[in-house]
Amino acid sequence: MSTITRFAPSPTGRLHVGNIRTALHNWMLARKAGGTFILRIDDTDAARSREEYVDAIKADLTWLGLDWDREERQSHRLERYEDAFTRLKDAGRIYPCYESAQELEIKRKIALGRGLPPNYDRAALGLTDAERAEKEAQGTPAHWRFLLDHEEPIAWNDGIRGPQKFDAAQLSDPVIRRAGGSWLYMMPSAVDDIDMGITQVLRGEDHVSNTAVQIQIFTALFAAGFAAQESAAKKVPCFAHEALLVGREGKLSKRLGSLSSDALCERGIEPEAVIALLARLGTSQPVEPIADRSTLVASFDLATFGRAPAKFNEEDLERLNAAIVHQLDYTAVQARLPDGMDEAGWHAIRPNLARVDEAGEWWRLVIGPIDQPEFSEDDRSYLAAAAAALEWGSDPWGALTAALKSSTERKGRALFLPLRQALTGMDHGPDMGELLPLIGESEARARLTRAAAQ
Ligand code: GLU
Repeated sequence: MSTITRFAPSPTGRLHVGNIRTALHNWMLARKAGGTFILRIDDTDAARSREEYVDAIKADLTWLGLDWDREERQSHRLERYEDAFTRLKDAGRIYPCYESAQELEIKRKIALGRGLPPNYDRAALGLTDAERAEKEAQGTPAHWRFLLDHEEPIAWNDGIRGPQKFDAAQLSDPVIRRAGGSWLYMMPSAVDDIDMGITQVLRGEDHVSNTAVQIQIFTALFAAGFAAQESAAKKVPCFAHEALLVGREGKLSKRLGSLSSDALCERGIEPEAVIALLARLGTSQPVEPIADRSTLVASFDLATFGRAPAKFNEEDLERLNAAIVHQLDYTAVQARLPDGMDEAGWHAIRPNLARVDEAGEWWRLVIGPIDQPEFSEDDRSYLAAAAAALEWGSDPWGALTAALKSSTERKGRALFLPLRQALTGMDHGPDMGELLPLIGESEARARLTRAAAQ
C-alpha cells in the first residue's frame, strides 16, 4: 500500500513555523516512501477562511520547496459530508441538540464545580420527538453531536507516542455541525482521510484527543458503509502526534506563532535553513546545515522523534542559515546577486555572508568606489612599493605578498593590513587571494597608488 499523507491548513492566516514543520514532516514521510503528499485546504469555515490565505499558503509551500501532488478543498466536498452525515444520523450516531452557548457554559461550570470533567451531559438525547418539534417551532435550530460509543475501546499505536488508550466515556460528544448547517473540523477531516486514502496522519499533539474521537467516527463511517469509493481507505490511518514546538523560554510564544515564512524570508533566511532545522528539531538526530534535502528525506524517521517539546531558537536558525549560505551554488543565488557579480565573485564573498542579500555590500569592495583610511608616512611608502611590485599572474596576491615580504622588513599584520585597507577600504573581509583577481590589475594598481599618494 503506497503512503499517502496530507497537510491540512485552515486558510485563516499565514503559515508559521509550527505548521510549516507539520507540512514538512508530512512531505518528508511521503517523499521518503515514494508516496503522495496532498495539500488539503480546510475551508469549511466560510466566515474565517480567506482566498488570499489560500494563495499565501501555496506561495509559502512553494518558497519552501514543499511540492504537493494533489490539492483538495473541503469547500468543494460538501456533498460527501452530507452523505456521511446522513449515514451516521440514520445509524443513530448523530443527534440534534438545542442548548445555547450560555446554557452549555453553565453546564460546564456546574460539572467543574462538582469536580467532574466538563463533558456534555447528553441531555438532548433524552428529548422526545414532541420536545424537539417544539424547540424547532420556537425557532431554535438544532446543532449536531456525534454520539461516542462508551463501550467501544479506543486505542492506537501512535507512530511517535507509542500505544495510546482512551476511555470514550471520559470524552465529550463533539459538535460536528453548527446550527446553520456549517461543518466543524471533526467529521469532514475523517471523511476526507477515508476518501483520499490517507495512510498516515501526522500532526501536532494538540490533536491527540481529536484522534480518539475521530477513530470512532472512522469506524462508525465504515460500519455505515461509507467507504464505498474505489480509492477510499478501508481502514483507520496510522496516527502520529509530534510534540509541539516551543520558544526558547519553553512556551508556545506569540512571537513563534506569528513567525511566518514571509517574515523569515525578509530576514534573509533561506528555505533550506528552515528545512534543515525543522526536519530534525525535536528528534534524536543532530541539527546540521544540510542543504541537500534528499539527505534529510533519507534520514527522516518517526522513531527518532522525542516526546519533549521541541525548542525553536531563532539564533540557531540564523547560525544554520549562515552555514547554508556558505554552501549555496552560484546558480541557486544568481538572480539575487548584484549586477556583474559572477561565479568567482560569489565564491570569494560567500564565506563572509550571514544572508545572501549582504553580497552587495561586499561586492562594492570589488567594483568600488572604496573609502580608504588615512595611512602613516611609513605605510604610504610601503604601499608605493606594493604598487610597483604588483605583477599579474595566476595568483597576484600570493606573488605580491611574497615579494613584499622579502623586499621589506614587514610580516604578519604589518605586511597584510595596509594592503587590504588600500585595496578594499576595510580591515577585514573576503579572502584577498580570491578578491584581488576580481578587482583587476589596473584598478588594484590605481588603489595602491592613490593610497601611497595621500
Ligand atoms: N485544519 C486542521 C488544523 O489546522 C487540520 C488538522 C489535521 O491535520 O487533521 O489544525
